[in-house]
Amino acid sequence: MSHSTDDPRYPVRKPDAQWRQALGEIEYQVTRKAATERAFTGRFWDHWEGGHYDCVCCGTRLFHSKTKFDAGCGWPSYWEPVNDQVIEALPDRSHGMVRVEVRCRQCGAHLGHVFEDGPHPTGLRYCINSASLSFTAQPAGQAAESTPADNTPTPTPGTGSAP
Ligand SMILES: [Zn+2]
Repeated sequence: MSHSTDDPRYPVRKPDAQWRQALGEIEYQVTRKAATERAFTGRFWDHWEGGHYDCVCCGTRLFHSKTKFDAGCGWPSYWEPVNDQVIEALPDRSHGMVRVEVRCRQCGAHLGHVFEDGPHPTGLRYCINSASLSFTAQPAGQAAESTPADNTPTPTPGTGSAP
């Protein structure tokens, strides 16, 4: 069997009671107990804002919105993590299936599973529980779309007195 989510190999560890206190019920059950949120119930399956998704437990940046796609499965899906250092992949034979579990490599949080039916360029589908993630919108200025800087008051011509 795979090691537990509070295995000593993870750099970020907290006593179970602290996780329980720090996290909401669903976040705790998913990340620390490997539960799965019900499809189409999470915050992010239909969330398309630009930004990045971090581990809800330790804040490690895991996925970028650029790699998010609609897999139609009811969970947020990504074809690639921000890099291959942030994710741990483990064989998972629970529920009579052979799957690959993915966890946060920093704190061992259960995130979801990775499947090999994703889109190009990786062909992978990281099927992640919304409850394992927190979202940070792209900072202003890095936004791909318009950056209107027209909020500065324009000097009204004619009112300035010229001697
Ligand atoms: Zn983490």
